[in-house]
Amino acid sequence: MSEPGDPKPGTVYLVGSGPGDPELLTVKAKRLLERADVVLHDRLPGPAIIDQLPADRCEDVGKRAGGDRTPQSEINERLVELAREGNSIVRLKGGDSFVFGRGGEEAEYLAARDVPFEVVPGVTSATAAPAVAGIPITHRDHASSVSLVTGHEDPDKEESAVDWEALAALGGTIVVLMGVSRLPDYTDALLEAGADPETPVALVERATWPEQRVATGTLETIVAARDEVGIESPAVTVVGEVAATRDRVLEYLANEPDGEPVEPDTEV
Ligand code: SAH
Repeated sequence: MSEPGDPKPGTVYLVGSGPGDPELLTVKAKRLLERADVVLHDRLPGPAIIDQLPADRCEDVGKRAGGDRTPQSEINERLVELAREGNSIVRLKGGDSFVFGRGGEEAEYLAARDVPFEVVPGVTSATAAPAVAGIPITHRDHASSVSLVTGHEDPDKEESAVDWEALAALGGTIVVLMGVSRLPDYTDALLEAGADPETPVALVERATWPEQRVATGTLETIVAARDEVGIESPAVTVVGEVAATRDRVLEYLANEPDGEPVEPDTEV
């Protein structure tokens, strides 16, 4: 709690940086980055954005020396400490801070300590990664609902926090973030729950980065396609009829770097 007479704390801006293309930073994000006293970021915004940040005003709070993740509690404390010194702080997150970005935890922590903050939404990879691969997550003919879920599960947890059975029954589009390594687990779970094995699936890696790659297949073949293309994190998985839209538009899709796919798609 602040004491009477303490200097007015600076504002923390919880800013989403979008999927990685600097042109997809919002105008507001760019303005705040230019005038922030300190920018706290991790690696997810991607090299094109990180390389443009003012190095002398940046703190990388992603991985610590030794390779461990900086604990969230340390980041929270640092935000409060900097704000109480009167700084204007940008907490920069990949995509949108409030979509699997821990922005909610930071907001609650700041509010509980009387630190003012402003949320600056970003373009989330949950919609942008499918979009730039030619996949609309809703489509009047194919999907009128979208489920946005995490594929990353704590290996120690016995039960999945995501109810794949319910998702299979619901239909519509399923967008999975943090879902590269556990792709075999949840595609199996969906198949076991009765999803059609022919359901189209796409993986979009490093969307909007120059290294963007895409693998496509079906619930049955996507694991082999992932391995053949060598898809790695960060990537978004799209499950549902909408994923097949890509094939119908690919020839004219100028989002692919240089107007052409960097890597040929693998159809297994
Ligand atoms: N707040 C972020 C999500 C953070 S969770 C957002 O709104 O986008 C991290 C996950 O985001 C990754 O595992 C991956 O699934 C996804 N992701 C982030 N940037 C991405 C990108 N450029 N291309 C593909 N997936 C991305």
